[in-house]
Amino acid sequence: MIRVLILGGTRDAVDLAGAAALDETEVIYSLAGVTREPNLPGCQVRTGGFGGPEGLEAYIQSTGIDAVVDATHPFAAEIAANAFAACQQTGVPRLKFLRPPWQPGPDDDWIEAASTSDAAAYLADHPGTAFLTIGGRELAAFAGLPNCRFVVRYIHPPKGGVPLENCAVVVDRGPFDAAGESGLMRARGVQYLITKNSGGEGAAAKLGAARSLGIPVIMIARPAPPEGKIAGTEAEAIAWLQSL
Ligand code: NAP
Repeated sequence: MIRVLILGGTRDAVDLAGAAALDETEVIYSLAGVTREPNLPGCQVRTGGFGGPEGLEAYIQSTGIDAVVDATHPFAAEIAANAFAACQQTGVPRLKFLRPPWQPGPDDDWIEAASTSDAAAYLADHPGTAFLTIGGRELAAFAGLPNCRFVVRYIHPPKGGVPLENCAVVVDRGPFDAAGESGLMRARGVQYLITKNSGGEGAAAKLGAARSLGIPVIMIARPAPPEGKIAGTEAEAIAWLQSL
């Protein structure tokens, strides 16, 4: 029997936790605790930060974790770095589960941005109505753009409001399909889609909608993952666990 800590917070991580919890594998699924009513796997779940890399190191040791799969979102750079450091310190094997990034096709019109602030700088120079699908934490980067309008989608109504003027809030939870995304973008007069390059199928419908409507996509590049082994698919991650 091995005890595996899966650092989660994404649909892919929930699916992986379900698939990994086989006879010889005990899975503990970990969440930051930032989302209300999160999707959960059927295995044991713990919630909340560990207290930096040292806290995670202590958790790994006290809980007898044999392996860590970091299946957090590609943009969750802090927990990824903490997992790298804690596993280095404890000598526990770690795998980064990371879907390949989306790539533009011939019919896509992508503007590549190195960061959220880079995307905001582009919009400042090319104002318009932007559908922002970057999560709630970094919206302030788009504040102070009086010639722009925004459509922001949340899973739950935002507590404490939205830090943007000229902003329409849409409350909805995926999965979304291309027809629904097209309808939303058309109805709201969207001229740009701004998104993080999350990869995977779950959030890709908006890209298909932008393509069919001829809407440019301001695509924010991922931070580099920590060094070490990466699995791009659930099957690769399961194979890695089975090899332990
Ligand atoms: P982050 O900046 O990398 O992490 C911030 C802190 O949150 C970490 O230092 C850690 O606290 C805690 N944390 C993050 N993920 C955790 C987990 N799975 N289990 C326990 N503690 C965790 O992360 P973030 O970008 O705020 O994302 C937070 C969560 O939302 C992640 O689990 C991620 O998978 C999910 N998510 C993020 C995005 C995104 O765009 N960033 C999108 C979708 C889902 P301590 O230092 O105290 O341990």
